[in-house]
This record gives sequence, structure tokens and C-alpha cells, in this order.
Amino acid sequence: MSSYRVAQVGAAGAPFEITERTTRRPGPHEVRIAVDACGICHSDAMFVNGALPDVQFPLVTGHEIAGRVAETGDGTGGHWQVGDRVAVGWFGGSCHHCAACRQGDFVVCEELKVPGWSYDGGFGAEVIAPADALARIPTGLSAAEAAPMACAGVTTYNGLRRSPARPGDLVAVLGLGGLGHLGVRFAAAMGFETVAIARGADKAELAEELGAHHYIDSTAGTPVAEALRSLGGARVVLATAANSAAISATVDGLAHRGELVVIGADAEPLTITPAQLLMPGLVVRGHPSGTARDVEDTMAFSVLQGIRPMVETMPLEQANEAYGKMLAGTARFRMVLAHTEAGRAG
Ligand SMILES: [Zn+2]
Ligand SMILES: [Zn+2]
Repeated sequence: MSSYRVAQVGAAGAPFEITERTTRRPGPHEVRIAVDACGICHSDAMFVNGALPDVQFPLVTGHEIAGRVAETGDGTGGHWQVGDRVAVGWFGGSCHHCAACRQGDFVVCEELKVPGWSYDGGFGAEVIAPADALARIPTGLSAAEAAPMACAGVTTYNGLRRSPARPGDLVAVLGLGGLGHLGVRFAAAMGFETVAIARGADKAELAEELGAHHYIDSTAGTPVAEALRSLGGARVVLATAANSAAISATVDGLAHRGELVVIGADAEPLTITPAQLLMPGLVVRGHPSGTARDVEDTMAFSVLQGIRPMVETMPLEQANEAYGKMLAGTARFRMVLAHTEAGRAG
């Protein structure tokens, strides 16, 4: 019987420890994935800290998984073959019987399966996932590049393409971290007049490099909303920063009928008054990631437009260090745990 390495968390808030798990066979409609790389998402902290209901310890988190199909369960062989390169993100499978699933809206499934929550995630060399969670990785994306596309990538790409913004519209991306740096690239490639908003004058160069047409330094003194209005007002603000105060501060910078798309998760409430929304007819919308098909669309668009995440890879043994860099906001720009040689290749 073979085994594989995982970086597990023994109890809420505990550090990662390397241990072995026994390989098991995938069940019906599941596949076993040999994981090459797994990105570290800000929301992994909610798992590690036990801040979500029914998180089980010991925990193997990680929902930005890229690897290869190693074994197929019954009912999957027609679609998936051993060796296929696949990614699994926040969307880790759906129930197929709740009201949302029956309407074909799988990403808001009431029993959504999230890797690390419903089953062991990608902080381990193997993952068994439902086949409906698999996104095929295109040629041209390495495992380390594909992994962040399964959460950071799809959430920003889908958040923008499902928004009311059309080519030429002013679109602002709040935050220049793991999500935001991709959000700016996607927004520019989609043809939006793109504004990057971040903290500090030193980010201006990066914003321009990513394709932003304008940069707003939120620490410069001028309120962010006023800076946005001076550019004509944003049709959409894509809020990637996990900072409710910073998100709330953008609302008055929306143009009439503008939309605030919230994807950065902070436990603090947003502070928005009804009056702020009423007169200009604004919309505040939460945006939940995307399905496996959306992840495929994200990766295809990235290959088409030459968009790659900026990643920093570390071996699984350095999970604590990598996780610490993500928490401290010092990652440039997405930390990725590499389990294999293929995972290390940027
Ligand atoms: Zn995530
Ligand atoms: Zn469902």
C-alpha cells in the first residue's frame, strides 16, 4: 500500500506539520489526482483557524490545485484518462439535487464541495476529487501557473465578465495582491479602461506593468471615491482586497448604475448607507468563484492574452513559511506549494 505526504493542521490555528497519508482508490465519479502544485489563498486562513462551520481537524487545506489524473473511478473513464492535466479550485463539486443545481447554477450549490472542507485539499501530494470539479489545463500553462487560476484567476476573470462593464468602460480593481494582480491584467485585456487601487506610491509602476491605465494610491490623501469620480466614475469596482473599510470607501466612486463586485472576504461589515445606493441606483454584488468550466475559460483566456500569475513557489516542507508570507502580504504575488519538479517550473 503506498502513501503520500501532506502538510496538515492538527487543530485550529496550529502550524502545518508534514505527515503521511495512505493512498486510497477513488470512488464512483471521482478521480485521484497526483498534485504538482497548490496555490495558497487568503481564504485558507479561514480553514486553518477553524472559522468556517464543520471544518474537520486534522485538516489538509488548499483549493488551488494543479496536477495529473492518476487513477479514475467508475463512471469517469469516458471523460478523463490517467495523465490528463487538471486543476481543481474553490468549486470542488456540486450536489446535483439542490434548488440551485437543478437550475444549473452549480457554483452556488447549497452543498458545494470545497477542497479542504469537504475533502482533503491540495496541501498534499494526492487529492481525490469528484470528476465534475476537474478543469482541463491547456498546453502553455505550467502547473504552478494553472494552480492560482482555479481560485484567484477564475474569481477575478468571472467577476469581471459577469459584471455590467463593457469594453471602454472605466473599471477599478481594488487591491494588487494574489487576486488583484490578475484582476488588473484581465480587466485591461477585456478592453476596460482599467484603474488599479492599492496602498503606496511604490505600486504605481507595478500597476502600469500589469496594464492599468490609471493608478490610485489610497494613502495619498485624496479619498479613493473622489479620485475615481475625477476619472469619470467607475462602471464596476472589483473589490479584491480583504478589507471592508477599503471596499466601502470605493462606493461613492461608482458611476450611476455602477456595480461593486465583492470578492475579497473580510469578517468586518461593509459600511454603506441606503442613501449612497439609492440616488445613483448602485448595486452591491457578491461574486462566488466559478465552476470547473469557468476555470477552463479563465485558463484559455489567459493563454490567448499571454496572462500568467506571478507566483513564488516553495516546497511542501516550507508550508509554514509560505503561508506566513501570504498572511503578511509579502508574497510576490501568489504563494504556490510545489510538490513535484513540474510544480516548481514557473
Ligand atoms: Zn481561494
Ligand atoms: Zn447543489
